Amino acid sequence: MSSVYDLLPANGIPPAHIHRDVPMSTCTTFRIGGPADCLVDISSVNELQTVLAFIRTHGLPFIVIGNGSNLLVRDGGIRGVVIRLSSLFSSISEAAQFTPSRSSGSFIRADAGVSLSALAQFAATHGLDGLAPLSGIPGTLGGAVLMNAGAYGGEIGELISEVSAVSTETGELVTFPGHQLTFSYRNSSFMSMPHIITSATLFLSPGDPDRIRARMQELSVQRREKQPLSLPSAGSTFKRPQGAFAAKLIDDCGLRGFRIGQAQISEKHCGFIVNLGNATAAEILTLIDYVRDVVFKQTGFTLEPEIRIVGENTTRPGGNAL
Ligand SMILES: Cc1cc2nc3c(=O)[nH]c(=O)nc-3n(C[C@H](O)[C@H](O)[C@H](O)COP(=O)(O)OP(=O)(O)OC[C@H]3O[C@@H](n4cnc5c(N)ncnc54)[C@H](O)[C@@H]3O)c2cc1C
Repeated sequence: MSSVYDLLPANGIPPAHIHRDVPMSTCTTFRIGGPADCLVDISSVNELQTVLAFIRTHGLPFIVIGNGSNLLVRDGGIRGVVIRLSSLFSSISEAAQFTPSRSSGSFIRADAGVSLSALAQFAATHGLDGLAPLSGIPGTLGGAVLMNAGAYGGEIGELISEVSAVSTETGELVTFPGHQLTFSYRNSSFMSMPHIITSATLFLSPGDPDRIRARMQELSVQRREKQPLSLPSAGSTFKRPQGAFAAKLIDDCGLRGFRIGQAQISEKHCGFIVNLGNATAAEILTLIDYVRDVVFKQTGFTLEPEIRIVGENTTRPGGNAL
């Protein structure tokens, strides 16, 4: 059966970048999610603009993803287009032309699809400090900027010098200086902007490569000790409520290890919901609702999900092909 997506190659998108009926469980660290009608891997700003023009012309719904490490996709999957900015769009360079002085620091510019770990390694190799706390976050730069990802006292927003993004409404590439953007706990200006982040320039301070790598290694050990990294998850399920820690509240309510089907409050870290094998999104969502209810009734704190929940509850009748 022919579909609107058959027209994408004619619009200049390489066929190898276009994937149909993609199980989103293969695109998320939760390993959960029904099929996406069409997923396009982006390799340049031009390709992104072309896909957005196609989407506008045909009135298609879409979402953007990076590494899918903060996403819960519902079991019915995603109608329309998933635009993925990851390894095909991941160059990094030292922006030497902007360097004010080696003693005060330096800039690096990277595409949105670069992984935070690769970015941190690049910075360490170039004797640039500031990314070590974020090096173990399994996301892309684009996802990190949108989420203002942070760990061990550092947040990506603190390092931002400028961000380039394509407007989903006009297709225009715009560069926003850092002072025009706001970042707060797991929040950024981009959450309310119709833009897809394409690159960011970060300002980093000088540091000794060996010491930076040693710090990254130390934090990676801490993560492995404290977090349930052997099971699929999307990281911390809930945001930290004002004046408390979500994991402690959940633990205090006796929910450590509590499970619904294959969805479980991690035995190792109560802030994580883990997929024990073949959990459905419905099970994760039921567990989220249950935890929020119990924690509110027992402690008065309202837990808000940190993970982003997208997609449909049910698959398209008669299959997913448009
Ligand atoms: C084991 C584990 C540990 C984690 N630890 C941490 C941690 O310590 N600190 C922390 O903050 N997070 C943590 N996370 C969560 C997650 O890794 C971060 O939120 C990360 O920044 C998400 O990046 P991503 O590329 O995977 O984004 P995705 O999950 O793909 O997307 C997240 C959101 O960003 C949007 N998005 C993605 N790319 C773009 C783009 N280019 N332009 C515009 N919007 C975009 C998506 O639409 C979505 O709304 C952890 C997750 C896991 C699985």
